[in-house]
Amino acid sequence: MKRYSVFAIAREGLRYHQGWERAWRSPAPQKRYDTIIIGAGGHGLATAYYLGKNHGIRNVAIIEKGWLGGGNTGRNTTIIRSNYLQDASAAIYEKARSLYETLSQDLNYNVMFSPRGVMMLAQTQHEVRGYKRTVQANLLQGVATEWIEPARVQELVPIISISGPRYPVLGAIWQPRAGTARHDAVAWGYARACSEMGMDIIQNCEVTGIDRDGDRVTGVQTTKGAIACDRMGIVVAGHSGLLAQMAGFRLPVESVALQALVSEPIKPCLDVVVMANTVHGYLSQSDKGEMVIGGGADGFNNYTQRGSFHHVEETVRALVETFPMISRLRMLRQWGGIVDMTGDRSAIISKTPVRGVYINCGWGTGGFKSIPGSGWAMAELMAKGEPGPLAAPFSLTRFREGQFIDESVAAGVAH
Ligand SMILES: Cc1cc2nc3c(=O)[nH]c(=O)nc-3n(C[C@H](O)[C@H](O)[C@H](O)COP(=O)(O)OP(=O)(O)OC[C@H]3O[C@@H](n4cnc5c(N)ncnc54)[C@H](O)[C@@H]3O)c2cc1C
Repeated sequence: MKRYSVFAIAREGLRYHQGWERAWRSPAPQKRYDTIIIGAGGHGLATAYYLGKNHGIRNVAIIEKGWLGGGNTGRNTTIIRSNYLQDASAAIYEKARSLYETLSQDLNYNVMFSPRGVMMLAQTQHEVRGYKRTVQANLLQGVATEWIEPARVQELVPIISISGPRYPVLGAIWQPRAGTARHDAVAWGYARACSEMGMDIIQNCEVTGIDRDGDRVTGVQTTKGAIACDRMGIVVAGHSGLLAQMAGFRLPVESVALQALVSEPIKPCLDVVVMANTVHGYLSQSDKGEMVIGGGADGFNNYTQRGSFHHVEETVRALVETFPMISRLRMLRQWGGIVDMTGDRSAIISKTPVRGVYINCGWGTGGFKSIPGSGWAMAELMAKGEPGPLAAPFSLTRFREGQFIDESVAAGVAH
């Protein structure tokens, strides 16, 4: 595949852009692959990419029931940060954040990583104590965060109302190298690189059953026929429970709708990401000028990909309180995704009771930021059959052994 470069753009500009190739092939499925990945979201595609790049495993099919990146990966608000409390979380999220720094160069695809800085506001004394503790933990973990006072918050975010009608801003945890990336581009960049390595991305192909011979996986049933394999990764976010059921085991996850909305585009007025977790709303401005707004997760399990109305109302109320200028904006569109939540709000990257089946799920409301690190760790697990240091703490066995990675404050509400 031809590399994207300034010379390629110049060359194509001279010949009316007739020479560009398709970014990835869309082949019919073969009868058999060494490895099948179910789910062409960011995590599935990143797993396939690092299987090929780091472990030389390239006889891989990535099977997607819709279009690639059309799940949560293409629906999220793109916040990337690594300021988590627990060591295991900080390690994998910081690995991911550092991979994002050079992902455009690695994939030869512009993922528009923008390390513009992310701040999480403290609006109660409880949050002040919690975030100051996280800053100390991050110091020990080698994650660069700092505590900033309200005056600095106001300096970085001129549109914020520091005194707030209900909750004044008391300070914030600030991660200067956190930020955003273009979500579609992350999926497209990985897909193009996988296709270039000879992997087959099979879209519009739903997995409807998982075949076993005793306790070992032998393949999948799909809407495009049966496909055999030796090894399988289930990477389907909100549909993990359903796929686990097909394979014959249960998962400690719940699926709920999480929603977001964007405003009409306006002139640049916010060049950092701000999260207000007490009132529950968060905000960034896209390159197009739209205000990107994250809302809450439904309090009941469902697969609607919509989200309930009262959450939009609550989110907008929270934001008007924190950023009064929002009240003058018109909202453009709203959407939802199905996220998979575990009890300790941390992910699962694990072997399963079925030999040859591995699972990556439970990223809940915050798994866009972890895509490169998660793919890296999942690929290592699938290639070696045993987890490396990044994945080991995220095993399914932690629920049996009580070794929870409690991120309910960091991940239960925020992103
Ligand atoms: C509104 C919203 C805002 C968010 N904001 C953020 C944020 O700011 N920062 C952040 O870090 N995270 C955020 N997240 C979370 C993040 O989007 C997810 O954790 C992440 O995208 C999960 O990626 P994935 O690849 O695991 O899943 P997905 O992208 O959902 O991919 C899974 C794929 O599996 C496919 N699939 C399912 N069942 C089958 C089947 N039977 N056969 C074949 N294919 C199947 C689906 O079609 C889907 O494409 C947000 C999520 C939502 C919904």
